[in-house]
Amino acid sequence: MARRNKLESATVNTESVAPASRRGFLKTSAALAGSAALGVLGPGRRVFSGQEPSGVSARGKMYGLIYFDVEDYFSPPETPSHTLPGQLADIMHKHGMRGSFHIMGERARFWERHRMTSVIESIKRHDVSLHYDRGSIHPTTAEEVSELDWFQGVDRVLFRELPGFQALQRIFGKCSGLTQHGGTFAAQIVYAAGKLGKPFFYSPFRLPGRNVAWYCNNLLIGGYQAPFSFDVFYKDTPKFEAQLAKVNPYLDKRAEAFDFTAMFGCHPVRALMDEFPDAINFSNGASPSPKDWVAPTLAKDASVPRILRNFERLIVTLVEHPKVEWTTVEGINNLYGQRPVRVGDRHVLAGAEEVVRNGGPTYTPLLSAGELLYLLARRVIAPAKTYDVPQVMGPTEEPGKNKPGAAVSPAALAHEIVRAVMSSGYLPPRLECGGGSVSLGSAMLQLACHATGRDLPPENKRRLSVDAIPGVPEATENVKRYKKWRIHGQRYRQGPILEHFKRQCWTLKPAFTQQEYDQGVALGRYLNPMFERK
Ligand SMILES: [Zn+2]
Repeated sequence: MARRNKLESATVNTESVAPASRRGFLKTSAALAGSAALGVLGPGRRVFSGQEPSGVSARGKMYGLIYFDVEDYFSPPETPSHTLPGQLADIMHKHGMRGSFHIMGERARFWERHRMTSVIESIKRHDVSLHYDRGSIHPTTAEEVSELDWFQGVDRVLFRELPGFQALQRIFGKCSGLTQHGGTFAAQIVYAAGKLGKPFFYSPFRLPGRNVAWYCNNLLIGGYQAPFSFDVFYKDTPKFEAQLAKVNPYLDKRAEAFDFTAMFGCHPVRALMDEFPDAINFSNGASPSPKDWVAPTLAKDASVPRILRNFERLIVTLVEHPKVEWTTVEGINNLYGQRPVRVGDRHVLAGAEEVVRNGGPTYTPLLSAGELLYLLARRVIAPAKTYDVPQVMGPTEEPGKNKPGAAVSPAALAHEIVRAVMSSGYLPPRLECGGGSVSLGSAMLQLACHATGRDLPPENKRRLSVDAIPGVPEATENVKRYKKWRIHGQRYRQGPILEHFKRQCWTLKPAFTQQEYDQGVALGRYLNPMFERK
């Protein structure tokens, strides 16, 4: 909310966790053969090597969605900011567009309490997801999580946000995800939402050509990345027109290079009022009691009919864009929510080549660095033609530095990794075989060299931390910026947020639509298939 939101989040839908058949997702034909790098994508696609762009374009269209962060629960019931979201919904409905409404639990309960059923009915025709149950009320979910260890943090997110998911389900009959509000981001939040079957909208990652990713075993859906916005401009037609003129060039350019792009419709409260109510009440950790909450004032030049007229012009522009296929958060989850659950040994070997080339950990189009590490270990112990993909998590504690002990065999590394993952579902922070301390990155490089029969690269070519994983340094900078969100108070501890974020980068990989995977890859929607025991 507050700032021109770089930070909204996404959502999930409950249906998405329903087990899906293991078969029937094996589209596309051959094509894999000579594919240089990782041989994952189907015909007509550029093969994604982890470094180069892989824009959409075989389909000729980019997916897009338009979303709204709906946040006012301060203004008296007769204020137009309570009805504007329903009016925006009606305009989109008239033009056959479904919007994605990111709604705070408090906001939804306000409508319910005041029996504003026509607003609810208008919004119901669109996609709805949770914009955190209590938004900026302190402590925010991110503030609380930043004070806790991994497992306590996950529990806290479930405890705090479940009532919000339930409220939206009760009021709108649906809730398709969790959508980032301001700087409220943490790896535990993404993971916990995934456990509830809710994708997370907003991603700190900017992977080449791809705007939906897997992280913490949940889908991250890229948020608004355009250098312009509409919030306060709908009420000022000349300024609105200046913004509107940027839309088609922006979408044209994005469609050339990306699979998916989110457009931000507005914060309805900001289209009408002088300030964000959250900024008035909760900046820098301020925590007034509800009876002292201050409502925002209506902007003098705010005319609802003018705002709606201009909004309709935006919607017409979007609907007419020839290169965008409009969908919603729920739609993106349906399109991208299938993950590889069984891969071939050749996919693991291709990943090993990629690790050697990279000099350290990396993901592939099919496997996160963590999954690849596990499977490289697994194939040392029990090589096979195909393997179940373990939805393994990154370590929860401080990773170890490399401290040489006795020389360690690939088998010793492999046994320790497999044992640790099988017993917990998490990678260990470090490996202790040989009496030393082997970092995960070092173990991965050793196992990749073993798999490919290559020598270890020279020391100066090795990159053993998660920063070797493409996209991680840039995403870390994005997560660092969340500290500057004006709502955060003293309780927000940046250190633990960053540490957990980075450890879980072992779970990062790009997401693809099911048509993009090669036929040799089995896909599924279910969470955490158990590993093979053989
Ligand atoms: Zn927000």
